[in-house]
Amino acid sequence: MDVLEKLAGSPRVSVRRSGPPDPEGTCVVYWMQRAQRGVDNPALDTAVRAADALGKPVVVFFAPVPFYPRANLRHYAFLAQGVPDMARALAAKGVGFVLRPYPRHSLIRFCEEVRPCLVVGDENPLQEPGRWRKVAAERLRVPLWTVDADVIVPSRLLLKEQYAARTIRPRINALLPAFLEEPEEPRPRKRWRPPPDVESLPPSAPWLDAFPAARDAWPVDSFTGGTKAGLAALDRFLREGLTGYATRRNDPSAAGTSRLSPYLHFGHLGPRSVALAVKNAGAPAGDREAFLEEMVVRRELAINYAAFNPACDALEGCEPWALKTLREHAADPRPHLYGPDELEAGETHDPLWNAAQHQMVRTGWMHGYLRMYWAKKLLEWTPSPGEAFETAVRLNDRYELDGRDPNGYAGIAWAIGGKHDRPWPPRKPVLGLIRPMTEKGCRRKFDVDGYIAEVERGEA
Ligand code: FAD
Repeated sequence: MDVLEKLAGSPRVSVRRSGPPDPEGTCVVYWMQRAQRGVDNPALDTAVRAADALGKPVVVFFAPVPFYPRANLRHYAFLAQGVPDMARALAAKGVGFVLRPYPRHSLIRFCEEVRPCLVVGDENPLQEPGRWRKVAAERLRVPLWTVDADVIVPSRLLLKEQYAARTIRPRINALLPAFLEEPEEPRPRKRWRPPPDVESLPPSAPWLDAFPAARDAWPVDSFTGGTKAGLAALDRFLREGLTGYATRRNDPSAAGTSRLSPYLHFGHLGPRSVALAVKNAGAPAGDREAFLEEMVVRRELAINYAAFNPACDALEGCEPWALKTLREHAADPRPHLYGPDELEAGETHDPLWNAAQHQMVRTGWMHGYLRMYWAKKLLEWTPSPGEAFETAVRLNDRYELDGRDPNGYAGIAWAIGGKHDRPWPPRKPVLGLIRPMTEKGCRRKFDVDGYIAEVERGEA
């Protein structure tokens, strides 16, 4: 079997448009979307290996567009901060980089200019990028492969929607040894030399100034985007956060989690490097295992949900038992009902919920334990479970830097629709058999008043 056939048949690669690469082509184009980095990137590695087999150079085409559903200036600012890092890493490998934000974002036009032999893209399990891939596959004149670059175990190997962590865990653990390997970081044998007529903005160009992104959330300075900042956050977590993670991770005031979710969401960090760094760290085994359970098992369970359930961002994607119990309790009285503006402003009767909402709006991030509580209260305080789900998605995706992610949809589906959970008797008003969470329960876990005071002082 030749190298190209072998690459196309790898479990990470999906052939979206088949056929032989164009032998007259000048390069391999990597259409970078989700894996926004120049290191630990299996899509880039696939493009490099294919290019070597074809005797061609590789060029990355990166083209941010302002119409991604629910994306806004907050998200694009973080994304733009990552561009110089990715350009530097690619240049060090001899890979070309072309930056063309909207309105010069057309992959098809770019391919008409550079005439590739083959286009390689990266995978995203959500519906919108799936549509873009479909359109690209129809319009390109050369083969299109996509690479499942942001999971450790390729999604395809999990075969179907998995019911819960307990069903996916043994499958992932059985496959991990084959996929949790040190990245090889191949460099193409042929360096990309930009043809004079192929335009690109410089990586640090202030393209965002004129970018017509939604302005419904402003950029934050609590996180800086990019692989360099992501690696620094990982390093800090390994030194200061990992030991004790298993016991502290549910305490929002202990700052005991990694805060890597924005970097994983934008692909500024690859999950494989993060998992290897944690696996090889000197922290106690229980802490390393607890982290890998979240970052590998839970994260890849969420990606499995998005990959195999097209309704993952709606109540309909949830379990039949949960939909049934919610229907049975649809008419229950709701002592507190809030409209969209009160919720968005964090003006409810519950200071803990308000603080969590304020933290998210102000900093672009909320602690995971509070995300659960926050979404469950929306179920209690809005007129219907469908409205609760929509409100949670709208606010989460608008304000969280890591929003618009399979993890977000799975988290909301867990909190409101029992996804990956089980019935939780006895029945409660409104929730039925959905697992409840209460402020009193939070008080047993962490210093609620300390957390509220910290947020309201602007320190969390
Ligand atoms: P850590 O505890 O340090 O964990 C490391 C990584 O593991 C995280 O960065 C994340 O990638 C993954 N992870 C951790 N917890 C989970 C989990 N429960 N499910 C899946 N993966 C997990 N995560 C997002 O990335 N984007 C979202 O929009 C998002 N929205 C959520 C909404 C709700 C209602 C709920 C209940 C959860 C949501 N999560 C979301 C999952 C989780 O809360 C965050 O990933 C986590 O809190 C991020 O903080 P961290 O990076 O410090 O996590």
